[in-house]
Amino acid sequence: MSDTRSDIRGEHSAKHTGQDRAHAPGVVGVPVDLEAGLAPYAARSAQSRGRRFAEPPPAARSEFQRDRDRIVHSTAFRRLEYKTQVFVNHEGDLFRTRLTHSLEVAQIARSVARNLRVNEDLVEAISLAHDLGHTPFGHAGQDALNECMREHGGFEHNLQSLAVVDELEEHYGAFDGLNLCFETREGILKHCSREHARQLGELGERFLLGRQPSLEAQIANIADEIAYNNHDVDDGLRSGLLTIEQLAEVELWQMHYEAARAEYPQIEGRRLVHEIVRRIINTLIVDLIDETSRNLAKLAPQSLDDVRAAPPIVAHSEGVAAQAAVLKRFLYRNLYRHYRVMRMANKAQRIVKGLFEAFSDDPRLLPPAYQTHDEASQPRQIAHYIAGMTDRYALKEYRRLFVVSDEV
Ligand code: MG
Repeated sequence: MSDTRSDIRGEHSAKHTGQDRAHAPGVVGVPVDLEAGLAPYAARSAQSRGRRFAEPPPAARSEFQRDRDRIVHSTAFRRLEYKTQVFVNHEGDLFRTRLTHSLEVAQIARSVARNLRVNEDLVEAISLAHDLGHTPFGHAGQDALNECMREHGGFEHNLQSLAVVDELEEHYGAFDGLNLCFETREGILKHCSREHARQLGELGERFLLGRQPSLEAQIANIADEIAYNNHDVDDGLRSGLLTIEQLAEVELWQMHYEAARAEYPQIEGRRLVHEIVRRIINTLIVDLIDETSRNLAKLAPQSLDDVRAAPPIVAHSEGVAAQAAVLKRFLYRNLYRHYRVMRMANKAQRIVKGLFEAFSDDPRLLPPAYQTHDEASQPRQIAHYIAGMTDRYALKEYRRLFVVSDEV
């Protein structure tokens, strides 16, 4: 994804901050520091590298609060409700979707951030936005779209999340996208190939220089893993694709299973599962805070720049990292590769590839907003259209195009 607006990078409103406008309640004209009490290594609105388009400072909010609010009000955020995490949306009402997943990530990340005295608003903004670019049907959908786009620059959900907040949202008169702060965009861009990094200007630099993002971004990244490892166990058991007996081979699970049983010998079923899962999440969060605090004490960063130059700081202890990796591998083998999940994934790939092919063969089938006279950019427009679809919208669109009926 090339950045055509790199010319305005650096011209931003960093000198204006939420603090300029926010006032203590009842004390007119006395500014209140909305980010008071943060550690020196936290990201601060006042030191932000700014937005792509200069804007007046928000009233009564910090810059990162404004980012979070823009994300919650975006169309892409509401779409997450109908996008697959592991189970396709219509398979059951109680399984996680991308939306509830994102909320769980934010909740975990905020707990960690508050303990470490870093910017909770930024952590929340990154967490809520981190999956905005996901295709319908989870990873199967993304893999299929990536294959379709192989000759045209590929498809990667991280970059797509960035495209959503930088270009695709249509919310504001003055600019495309949500015009988020550099630090929020930096957090959304979790991974990036060197080739893409070179096209992303300032935002891609850290991938070329081997530097780290803010602690807030590092926290959101690990909170994502904590959230999905745990809720996928929960959903896996709920669906019947996993059993409690199978999980006995996972130390992290078994340890808490035994502790929960010892404390409440009579509980079983859903209550037992929840009792175990909440203990695992708690163990992971506390370990993450402890190990990260040790790293902070050792490296003693005095600013966000020090954090960027240091090795990764937010981490689990070695022992817990190894236990979490065992759980992750267990899920991979027993849930993500379960034949019933594979069947849905296979179907999903056929739907995505079918849609891509039909639109490529005849772009006139696309809604006009995605048609372009520039042949070279047509595949990317098709990818934007498909990536934005919810699971059920993609299924409906597939039926409209491929099933002979009166649906158009
Ligand atoms: Mg995620």
